[in-house]
Amino acid sequence: MSGQVLVLNTGSSSIKYRLIDMGTRRAVAGGLIERIGEDESVLTHDGVRSERRVADHEEGLKAVLAAFAEHGPPLDAVTAVGHRVVHGGSRFVTPVLIDDAVERAIEEMAPLAPLHNPANLEGIRVARRAFPALPHVAVFDTAFHGTIPPHAHTYAVPREWTRKLGVRRYGFHGTSTAYVSRRAAALLGRPYDEVNSIVLHLGNGASATAVRAGRSVDTSMGITPLAGLVMGTRSGDVDPALGAYLGRVAGMDLAGVDAALNKESGLLGMCGANDMREVWRLADAGDEDARLALDVYGYRVRTYIGAYYAALGHVDALVFTGGVGQNSPRVRALAATGLTRLGIEIDPGRNDAESAQARVISPEGAEVTVLVVPTDEELEIAEQTAACLAGA
Ligand code: ADP
Repeated sequence: MSGQVLVLNTGSSSIKYRLIDMGTRRAVAGGLIERIGEDESVLTHDGVRSERRVADHEEGLKAVLAAFAEHGPPLDAVTAVGHRVVHGGSRFVTPVLIDDAVERAIEEMAPLAPLHNPANLEGIRVARRAFPALPHVAVFDTAFHGTIPPHAHTYAVPREWTRKLGVRRYGFHGTSTAYVSRRAAALLGRPYDEVNSIVLHLGNGASATAVRAGRSVDTSMGITPLAGLVMGTRSGDVDPALGAYLGRVAGMDLAGVDAALNKESGLLGMCGANDMREVWRLADAGDEDARLALDVYGYRVRTYIGAYYAALGHVDALVFTGGVGQNSPRVRALAATGLTRLGIEIDPGRNDAESAQARVISPEGAEVTVLVVPTDEELEIAEQTAACLAGA
């Protein structure tokens, strides 16, 4: 597909956007409007910041379009709009051309992602009104994990929950994981469908995914993005009976426990800081809680690597991505410590070398190639949008 794809990622109070030229696969413009609905919303268009009052997403998108009109580039080469949607449930395992029925289906899946899907849908509705003549495509965060086999996505719970209530592992970060695992195979110079990889997406949210021959076969997040690795403010794995226990001993209700596990746990809960840079600063200054938080974080990643090694049988590549995975050599070293028996080793010089490029950080000739691959979810959404429209 030639022309340009406008990628929209609508959150509850923000719209992130990127205009991507499909000929060059490069962003020609991009920005973000934040604090929609608050007194002072902030629009940053191609690095130029302005403040205004924006009451809702409709006004937000109008402000974005006004910024394009005022500062450029013109939007007349746009041939499609690609929308990030967090939860596609069991129904959407590939990108889909949006019509009214798809909108209703995204709405029906709101209980699975109450913070995200309603906001994503609002973005879709507003954009369809703004660009009625263009095709709009939904790209789901869960979709890449549609290939996880039943033994890995089924929870050992009453089967009525699974059959009637949609209870199962879905997984998230799929768009990012698809992108970086494909890039990793390309860097190895091998066909995507011949490479097994473990992808560690470590950002504010964090997940591990086992990819066999280009298909996700297990992932650490579950029915919601709370499960698995330690994250900035999310606990990751805990005993499922924790809520009941806290109800008995502290009178907490389930909603309170859920909120605390999502927003007050993880690194923040353990040491009072959720930004990985700050956690290291505290640890380096001798803060014991921060040191322990890092140990818990690294240990959890290592045990997931071990689990997915078992799931895959053979691993060609271990891939780090996300804000932490791309930028923190110390976290990468922590995550890969003690895994030499699995063929996983990091070359300290390569690991420490500063670079924004995709690169190999394992020693020459290592059994498992360890890579850092900067993710690009917007480019992946644009490519999947184009592929969907091409009928691929
Ligand atoms: P999100 O999951 O919201 O998309 P990112 O993938 O951008 O977030 O990751 C954001 C996180 O990356 C921040 O919380 C910060 O801890 C971490 N980060 C960014 N730069 C560095 C760095 N140089 N060293 C360690 N951590 C970093």
